[in-house]
Amino acid sequence: MRVNSPGVRPGYCVVHICIVQDYEQEAVHVGGLDRRPFLQLHSAPMRIVTSTAAMQRLALRWRRAGTRVGFVPTMGYLHDGHLSLLSRARRLVGKRGIIVASIYVNPAQFAPTEDLSAYPRDLERDRVLCRKAGVDVLFLPSDAEMYPGRAPGGHSTHVIEEQLSQGMEGGARPTHFRGVTTVVAKLFNLVLPDVAVFGAKDWQQAAIIRRMTRDLNFPLRLVVAPTRREKDGLAMSSRNKYLSAEERPQATILWRALKLAKEVVTSSRTPNYADVLKSELAALIATQPAARLDYLEFFDGETLQPATAVTRGAHMALAVFIGRTRLIDNAVLG
Ligand code: AMP
Repeated sequence: MRVNSPGVRPGYCVVHICIVQDYEQEAVHVGGLDRRPFLQLHSAPMRIVTSTAAMQRLALRWRRAGTRVGFVPTMGYLHDGHLSLLSRARRLVGKRGIIVASIYVNPAQFAPTEDLSAYPRDLERDRVLCRKAGVDVLFLPSDAEMYPGRAPGGHSTHVIEEQLSQGMEGGARPTHFRGVTTVVAKLFNLVLPDVAVFGAKDWQQAAIIRRMTRDLNFPLRLVVAPTRREKDGLAMSSRNKYLSAEERPQATILWRALKLAKEVVTSSRTPNYADVLKSELAALIATQPAARLDYLEFFDGETLQPATAVTRGAHMALAVFIGRTRLIDNAVLG
C-alpha cells in the first residue's frame, strides 16, 4: 500500500495507519512518519500496541487459539543483550509462536534521586531493531496506561517479594524491587506469556521474578539467558551510554573483579573467607580513579543467601559507580 494522503510523503507510510488495520483501532496510536521505504517496512510486519486493554485482548485471543507467546520485557535503548533474549524467546516458542517485546521505563522502580528522566531512550531505533529481530508485537504502554490515576487513590496495589529482595540491589535501592515485581506482574497479566525471558545480567531480579511467578502461580515458564558482554568484558547495558571516553575503559573493572574472583576460587584448595576476598577485590576496584564500590557480595545463586566462605559454584555480584554511572554485574565463580 502506498500512502498518498495530504501531508504524507508518497512512498512512505504512517506507522499507525499501516499497523492498525487488522487490529483494534485503539491498539495503536504511535504517530509520526516512518521514513523507511514502505516495502521494507512490510517485509517484516510488526504490530505496535500502546493500550493495555488492547494488549490483553490480543493475548486472550492468542490463548484461545492455542498460540504460544514468548515475552521479553525491557526498558528500551536496546543492545545485543536484549536481542539475545528475543532470539531465545523465538527459539522457545517456535516459528508459529508470537514474540512480544515491551519497552517501558517504569517510574515505580526508580527512586526520586535516580536517573528516570535521564534514562536513555531511542524509540525509533528500538522499533527497527525489534522488527529486524522478528518481534511480532511491540508493546509500548504509557505511564497513564500502566498506572491510571497515579494521583492519590488511583493505583494502590503492589506486589512485594519479601525475602530475596532484601540484600544487594534491594539494600542499595530500597523501593526498586517493589516497582519491578509490580510492573512485571502487570505485564504478565497483560501479555499472558507462555514463556518470559529475562537476563542473567540482573541476577537478583531474575531470582525475584522466578519466586514471584511461583508464589503467585503465574502460568508461565521463566527462562534466564546469559549476560552478553562487550569484547573487553563490560556487560552490555543501556546505562553504558552515560560513560565518558575516560570512564569507559575504567568500567571494565567490574568484569576484571569478577575474573580475579574466579581465578582465586578456582586456584585455591580451601574455601576463601568472603571478607578477605572482598577486601582484595575492593582494592582492585579502587585502582580506577572513577570507580566507587557500592556493594560486592558472595552468595548462593538460588537462595541469594550470603556466603561467608567462598567456594566454586558460589555467585558474586557487585555494583560500582563509574563517575556518576552506577553499573552492576555478576557471575558464578569457578
Ligand atoms: P533492561 O532494559 O535493562 O530493563 O533489561 C531488560 C532485560 O534485558 C532484563 O531481563 C535484563 O536482565 C536483560 N539484559 C540487560 N542487559 C543484558 C545483557 N548484557 N545480556 C543479557 N541480558 C541483558
